[in-house]
Amino acid sequence: MSLTDLAVQRCISPSCGATYSTSEALVACGKCGSLLDVVYDWNRGKPPTSLKDFEQMWSRRHEPLRFSGVWRFHELLPFANPAAVVTVGEGQTLLQQADGVAKYVGLNAGRLYLQYEGMNPSGSFKDNGMSAAFTHARAIGAKRAACASTGNTSASLAMYCSVTKLMKAIIFVGSGKISYGKLAQALDYGALTVQIAGDFDDAMARVKEVSRDLGIYLVNSVNPFRLEGQKTIMFRVLEALRWEVPDWIVVPGGNLGNSSAFGKAFSELLELGLIDRAPRLAVINAVGANTLYELYENRKMRWDSATGDMCQACNYYKELDRDGKKASTLASAIEINRPVNLTKCLRALEVCDGVVREVTDQDIMDAKAQVGTGGIGCEPASAASVAGAKMLRREGVIAADDRVVCILTGHLLKDPTATVAYHTTDQDQFNKVLGSRGVKRASFANRAVAVPNDLDEIIKAIQLYS
Ligand SMILES: *Cc1c(COP(=O)(O)O)cnc(C)c1O
Ligand SMILES: [Zn+2]
Repeated sequence: MSLTDLAVQRCISPSCGATYSTSEALVACGKCGSLLDVVYDWNRGKPPTSLKDFEQMWSRRHEPLRFSGVWRFHELLPFANPAAVVTVGEGQTLLQQADGVAKYVGLNAGRLYLQYEGMNPSGSFKDNGMSAAFTHARAIGAKRAACASTGNTSASLAMYCSVTKLMKAIIFVGSGKISYGKLAQALDYGALTVQIAGDFDDAMARVKEVSRDLGIYLVNSVNPFRLEGQKTIMFRVLEALRWEVPDWIVVPGGNLGNSSAFGKAFSELLELGLIDRAPRLAVINAVGANTLYELYENRKMRWDSATGDMCQACNYYKELDRDGKKASTLASAIEINRPVNLTKCLRALEVCDGVVREVTDQDIMDAKAQVGTGGIGCEPASAASVAGAKMLRREGVIAADDRVVCILTGHLLKDPTATVAYHTTDQDQFNKVLGSRGVKRASFANRAVAVPNDLDEIIKAIQLYS
């Protein structure tokens, strides 16, 4: 058997609480329509008694199970047997102390860390979840997998399909919405790519219908197994901090799968007695795709131990429809107005005493340039975390000496168009890509120097500028 008998899928609504076998492929509770969790019988599983126990895994890096930054923590997501996990070597990521970026954010030296999820094989954090979803899909014998994507989920799905040959990839993207770096991956890896005349929210609604009608395995973050893999991002952050819990985790919010997974990770670690407090969580929206911000901070929507009024979201979506409002930000990975994991994210915000902020595309692009000069770089959506940390620092919500971890969700090379437009001397290009999104200036542009093809002129230019 590939699946263990330690896990079931359970409706997140305690008043329903329906459970389902892990051998089913589900994206919602069949009784009430709520999202599902993967829950474990920890008494029969063998979770470690101390997080430090995971350090023993490092000496076994020759085993694929322990080389993977996801499956190294297998005991904390034991829905599949160790011999049956799918891995392509995901999760070899880095937590970098970034003092240059700390200064920009307003934190004391040594207090800001960047968690580089762009170092995953397909260049974004999505690989953490995809390895878990593939493990589940293989266990139940799925032959085709689909997703709607702003780009990174599809790149990850396409990569896992091409490497493992376990399934055929079918991806749904909004037309003209996907950055070239991400589209290039899906095409090169051989995924069937369906461009829908619409945006991500439209593509998401369609892929749910199509996968239901054709029995195709859905790997969007409504798939509860994906979030199990994404919990390990937090385990690696703790590992890099030698198991000390930071004060803040700051993460961009799109479909809210990551923030939901982080909340689940911390509530399980608390339940198991492996940590004694959860960090605070800050989820950062773009102003042009700010559903969570609007609902949580303005309309005070709360999980309230599952007693909160979830209809607030339906009402808000009706308003969006009435006003014909579509998500719009150049941080395309978070250009989402109907986040599928909203309720799980509200639960995470409760566990982690969370806050939500919205940042402009100007803030995002400036923060992104700072990450680039002071770190390994990231794509626009990722920099929302740094821009959000700066805002919270300015408000005094984050203190100068707090220990803060910003999650950099995707690689710099995912969206070269935005980066080059930021640094360009070509005003037309700047206006077309960034000006149209309300970005007025490139505060930290590193402009190329144009020189004639003449040795003396070239030498003069170098001496002038260096
Ligand atoms: C998917 C993605 C996000 C959004 O994450 P959610 O879990 O959907 O909130 C943010 N940044 C990047 C680079 C992504 O690929
Ligand atoms: Zn239910």
